[in-house]
Order: sequence, then C-alpha cells, then structure tokens
Amino acid sequence: MREAIRRFRWLLAGLSLLCALAQAQTPREQAPLVMSGDTATHPLAAHTGYFHDTDGRADLDGIEDTLRSGRFLPLPGDDASFGFQPGAYWFHVRLLNRNLQEPRWLLVQQYALSDRLDVYVRYPDGRVFHQAGGDHHPFEQRSVRYRHPNFQLDLPPGQPADLFVRVESQSSMQVPLALYTPTAFAELSRDAQFAMGIYYGILLALFTYNLVLWLTLRDASYFWYMFHISAFGLVLFTLYGLGFEYLWPRSPWLADKSVPLSICLAQIGMQQFARNFLGLRRRWPLGDYIGLGMIALFIVLGIATTWIPIRLSTQLAVIAVILSVAWIAVEAVVAMRSGYKPAKLFLLAWSMFLTGIAMVAMVAFGVLPKNFVTEYSVQIGSALEMLLLSVALGYRYASLRNENERIVRESRDQLEIKVEQRTTELRSALDQLEAAHLRLREFSRLDGLTELYNRTHFREAFEHLLSQARNAEQPISLLMIDLDHFKRVNDTYGHLVGDDCLRWTSNTMAETLRPYGALVARFGGEEFIAALPDMDLEEASAVAEELRQRLRDRPCRSGELDIPISASIGVHCVDAHKNSLDSALQVADQALYTAKAEGRDCVRTL
Ligand code: GH3
Ligand code: MG
Ligand code: MG
Repeated sequence: MREAIRRFRWLLAGLSLLCALAQAQTPREQAPLVMSGDTATHPLAAHTGYFHDTDGRADLDGIEDTLRSGRFLPLPGDDASFGFQPGAYWFHVRLLNRNLQEPRWLLVQQYALSDRLDVYVRYPDGRVFHQAGGDHHPFEQRSVRYRHPNFQLDLPPGQPADLFVRVESQSSMQVPLALYTPTAFAELSRDAQFAMGIYYGILLALFTYNLVLWLTLRDASYFWYMFHISAFGLVLFTLYGLGFEYLWPRSPWLADKSVPLSICLAQIGMQQFARNFLGLRRRWPLGDYIGLGMIALFIVLGIATTWIPIRLSTQLAVIAVILSVAWIAVEAVVAMRSGYKPAKLFLLAWSMFLTGIAMVAMVAFGVLPKNFVTEYSVQIGSALEMLLLSVALGYRYASLRNENERIVRESRDQLEIKVEQRTTELRSALDQLEAAHLRLREFSRLDGLTELYNRTHFREAFEHLLSQARNAEQPISLLMIDLDHFKRVNDTYGHLVGDDCLRWTSNTMAETLRPYGALVARFGGEEFIAALPDMDLEEASAVAEELRQRLRDRPCRSGELDIPISASIGVHCVDAHKNSLDSALQVADQALYTAKAEGRDCVRTL
C-alpha cells in the first residue's frame, strides 16, 4: 500500500510537471510512428500532437498551417483525455509503414461515445483521404461493424503519411487511438466480445432465474432486482458502444442520451431494490424517505436528460450516482445494525461493486497496473454483486419463511396451552357440577328430618326391587311401621323433642333393618316403610318383631329426657307377579291397621 501511495505521488508530480509544460506552450515535433514487421498493434499516444480548436471552425488546410507553425502540443501524460470540452480537438501523427506484409491498417478510436470524428490521411503526393465516424453517424458507415469507431487506412509500405483526426463531442474528450493490423484487430475484438459474452451470459442467467422466482413468489424485491440488473447491463452496454451497435444503430440521438438515461434507470432500480430488500419503511423511515427522494431525483434527471445538453446531464448523473451509491451503503449498514441479517450479504454484494469501481479509478490514477482483472473490474465487481444479491434474495426469502414459521409455531403452541387450560377449567367445573348434581340428587331422595329415603325414592327403588324379585323368583316383604300415640309425645314434650324422637327411631330402624338388605324410608309423619328382599312372610315377621322389641327396649334420648317409644308394624309378603306397589302397600297398611286395632306395639299380618 505504501508503495502504491509513493507511486501515486510520483504520478501527481509527473502530471503537474506535464501541465506546467503544456502551459508553457513549448512546441515540440513528435517523432513519427514507424510500423515495423514485428508489431501488430500500435497505440498512437506517444507520437501524437494535439491542437484545441476552441471554436471548432478550422479546416484541414488551416490545421496544417497550425502544425507547421509548431502550435501542436504533445499529449499531457501520454493520454488523450481532456474531460468535457467545447470546440474541436485535432490530433496529428506522422506514420511510416515499414511492414511489407500489411499495406492496410485499421485506426480504432477506443472510446465509444465520441460524437463526430473526421480522419484525414495526407499522402506525400498531396492526395488527401477523408473518412467520417463517431456516434452521430449511422452505425453501418463504420469500416468494421464494431462497438468502437474504426477507419480503414491505406498505408503503402515505405511511404510516410500524415494522419489528422478531428474530434468534436458533447461527451468526454477521450481519444485513445490505436492502429491494428486486420489480424490483430480480429483477435482483440474476439477477446473483448468473449469477455462481454460471459458477462452478459451471467446477467441473463440471473435475470431469468429471478424472473422465475418473481413469477412464482410475487415478491416485489425480485422485480426490482431484475429492473436493476437490466438497467445496469444497459449502462455498460451503452458505455461500451454496444447499444449503438446492436440496439439503436440508426439513432445517434439515443446513442448520446442512452448513457445518462440508463444510469438514471439503473439507480432508480437499485434504490428501489435497496428500500424493498432492506425493509427500510419499517426499519428506518427517515432513510426510506431519503431513498424515495433519490428515486425522484433520478426520475427528474432522466426526464431532463432528453432536452438538456448531454455534457451537463452526464456530469450531473455522475455526481448523483456517487451520492446514491454511497447512500445505499449507509442504508445497508443501518439495516444491518438494526439486527437484520440479510443486510450483511447485501453489504458484501454492494462492496464488491464499489471495489470494482474503485479499481477502475485506481487504474486511472496509475496506482494499479492495467490487466484483465483491473480492466474489467467493474464487470467482475458488478457480476459478483448481482450474484451475491441473488443469493441474498434467497437468504432473505428463507429468513422471512423461518420467521413466519416461528410466529405460526409460537401462536399454535400458545393456542394449545390456552386450550389445555380452558379444558382443565372446564373439566373441573364439570366435575364440580357433577358432584353438585349428585349431592342434589341424593338430597332429593332423602327425607330432610330423618335422613332416611323419602317416599318418592322408595316408590322408584321398590319398583326396581319388585322386578328383580320377579326375575329371580324370590319373595319380597313389606313392613309398614307407625309410632304409637305419637301425638301425645308432641303434646307432652313439644315438636322439637318429637323431631328428636323421629330421628332416634329412624336410626334404630336403619341399624336394625339394613343388615337384612332392607330399603327403609319415611312414608310420612311418624309412619315408616321397609322393603325386605328375598324374605317370605315368616322371615319378615321375625325381623319386624326384632325391630319392635328394639324400639321398645331403647327409649328415645332427647337432652336429659328418656321417652319410651313403641311402634305397630303391619307385614305383607308381596307376590311379585301379581301385586303392584299400591296394592301391596294397601295390604301392608291393612295389616298395620290390624296391629293398631289389636292394642298397638305389636306385629300383624293379614
Ligand atoms: P296412633 O297410635 O293411632 O297412631 O296415634 P297417633 O297419635 O300416633 O296418631 P295420629 O295420626 O293421630 O297422630 C300422628 C301425629 O304425629 C300427629 C303429628 O303431631 C305427629 N307428627 C307427624 N309428623 C310429625 C313431625 O314431623 N314431627 C313431629 N314432632 N310430629 C309429627
Ligand atoms: Mg301413630
Ligand atoms: Mg300415623
């Protein structure tokens, strides 16, 4: 690097010296260019003198006088490059062809955009041969169909000839002239076309690939990417004179305007692609507005290009491109720092392009040598850039898809958790409801005071027992129990004590009868009923007797009181096939009535 800087300093020193020499207007006769047999290509710069005809009015005779008066100057820095200039530039080289094999040579102006070139060859016998070229003349007038203006010269071996070239152009005054033998020129054009072919092949492949992606995915980024590479391809196409050769050979107007126009298009595409790819609207709204401003600038410049002088529009386009290219790098850095990963690839791609441009600039300043890589560095850089951008688009698509999948997965997981929670809540609510329902059902079957079954439940349950007995051919008996003179208990001790007595007797009944598998219920008031499955009249009567005795033996305990209780019991063995519940109850009730009638505190059957 230090070496490069030293070379650069030497170059600057050399340039300023040359400028000083030029300002001193020291006339110097250039040595003639001698084409010997062993060289097939001759750059003319070292042998060229030039004259700036500022109003562009001079003709060949006048210019020959100027040459004779020694007012032609050597090229500054051995390079016919003068920037944007008014009027016309005249160049003179004295040629001496010593190559006996080649009487015909091709003069090539290796810069495609010059407007008008006039080539004059003055032979020793005074004849003058004139040809006109440049992109203000139709393309087919060229000696060889080639992107650079070219002129076939007859240079008989051994004869000196004076070559005058007049150049007038709105574009930059660059006149790198060279003479080629027809064979050397064929090789040069073949190599250059091959390099171009590879470049445009890559661009075409990327274009097609992204076109398919755009048509399938309908993502605007792919469209703007294609827009950008097409427009950028067009920029190089026009810069190298290929637009004039292939696209608009009959339109010198377009040949002129196409450079700034395609530059504007390429920048519109690139700015729009960058906004879209980097998602600036969301990540950096201010930057997005500035990007939009840039696009507006290039639209205005593109429209203006059609009527302002080409010199002005090209200069404006170059300044705007520098701003725009730098701005895109800033956008990419900001997007990257906001944590957007695809921006890294974008920045890498963009730096390839910038490196390509920087290399061309360094070649121009002499910091880098001219070779295949440095000469085609813009093409290489832009091809790499476009390739990487295409990869970046794929990466961006993948990361968007992953992000979407993550969001869907997360929301699905959350939904599942919520559903699980709700299901658990619902299940526990249902369980509680079920328990409440069970409790309620249980309550609805029980008698509130005694907690024996109530009459309604007894009826249901007895129907069931009856059908069981029917099926199993088993007997089933009924006990109808009524407490004796219970009204007196109430009357003597009050209703609360009466209630205590009802509870007490209920407990005794349950304790005594349940071991026999009995269904015991309060039938109403101080009247109870019990069903005894699989018991005939005799067995049931024995159980009724046991109950009667127990009630009698255990006086009811209420507070400090012991209240003697007795009961009368009617027993009936039900014929499951014949009897219904009501008829069976009736019989049991009659038996009870008999017990009451026969003195109470006894068991009776009918
Ligand atoms: P009998 O020997 O003829 O059956 O005489 P009894 O007094 O037991 O018969 P009666 O049918 O005349 O009277 C039944 C009494 O039972 C009337 C009522 O005061 C009492 N009784 C009915 N239900 C309840 C109750 O829930 N609590 C209380 N404390 N007493 C009740
Ligand atoms: Mg009674
Ligand atoms: Mg009664």
